[in-house]
Amino acid sequence: MSKQRTEGLRHETCVVCGRRWIVSKLAVVPKSGYVCPGCAGRKIKKENKK
Ligand SMILES: [Zn+2]
Repeated sequence: MSKQRTEGLRHETCVVCGRRWIVSKLAVVPKSGYVCPGCAGRKIKKENKK
């Protein structure tokens, strides 16, 4: 099978690292832009600093 399963998927560019990621069409992308799981995790850790 050479057919790629891209149905229900789309590409989003992470605004933090600039890499393209394949995400679900159902994924909610904020107005500020898509943040990949890796960068989102880092961001949360940073923001958690009080
Ligand atoms: Zn990223």
